[in-house]
Amino acid sequence: MVISDVLIAVLTWILAVQLLGLGNTVGYHRLLTHRAFVAHPVVRHGFTLLGAMHGGSPVMWVGLHRLHHAKSDNDEDPHSPIQGFWWAHSGWLIGQRSPWLAIPFALSGFGQQLKILWHDVRRVAGRNPPVWRELCPDLMQEPLMRWLDMPFVATGLFVAQLGLAWLIAGPTGILWLWTVHLFLTNSSWSVNSVCHWPRFGAQPWDTRDWSRDVRWLGFLTNGESFHNSHHRYPRSARHALHGGQDLSWWVIKGLSRVGLASELWLPKAFRPKDAPEPQS
Ligand SMILES: [Zn+2]
Ligand SMILES: [Zn+2]
Repeated sequence: MVISDVLIAVLTWILAVQLLGLGNTVGYHRLLTHRAFVAHPVVRHGFTLLGAMHGGSPVMWVGLHRLHHAKSDNDEDPHSPIQGFWWAHSGWLIGQRSPWLAIPFALSGFGQQLKILWHDVRRVAGRNPPVWRELCPDLMQEPLMRWLDMPFVATGLFVAQLGLAWLIAGPTGILWLWTVHLFLTNSSWSVNSVCHWPRFGAQPWDTRDWSRDVRWLGFLTNGESFHNSHHRYPRSARHALHGGQDLSWWVIKGLSRVGLASELWLPKAFRPKDAPEPQS
């Protein structure tokens, strides 16, 4: 392998992590779950597909996340660290509180994809009814969301990635893809674990849950780590309200500058002075 190959691998890795990560943070989270802005259909569909490349069905992701906000850090929260740090990070996905099982799963890279496949196998067998649909009547009106919520579609997208990576670079390509998924899963899960753990960061708002603003994690989570601010103002398109690395917000702002996003919602005290009142 020559230096130019390594350079290409590193640059494409950064690009893939950023694009797929934004599919989750700008797409699944701020746009689909919280309706923080209105997106041009190309942006809405594009970010949704990027999110589905690693996050599974948007309907299930959004449903779980809406439940997390409704039940934050009580017994019905699907991934609260009141049941342990490693439960909140990755253990909840496999129903295990023990760090000895949750940590290997977190380091497995493709483990989430196996979990998604297993979920769909059980669903087809009638053991996992799609209850998340009840929490997402808005998404269920869209053909793309309904298609991505069908069993094995998300797995198909993952298999396509595996095939492409193999075609381009063989086993090295699979290793490259594995590190992409390893980073993306742990970046996303750290918001549930690190950003709800009392030892980290600060709690500028009294939200009556364990959420924290963890400034040092902003760069690695596209700004999602300003999580106490997010729990205080879930609909805000900007999470780093008091400043800090919030790439998702910068992307949303950039999209609005070129006419691909509008009606960016911000808490009243953080709106530009000349901004019109939001429509809804
Ligand atoms: Zn939270
Ligand atoms: Zn949220």
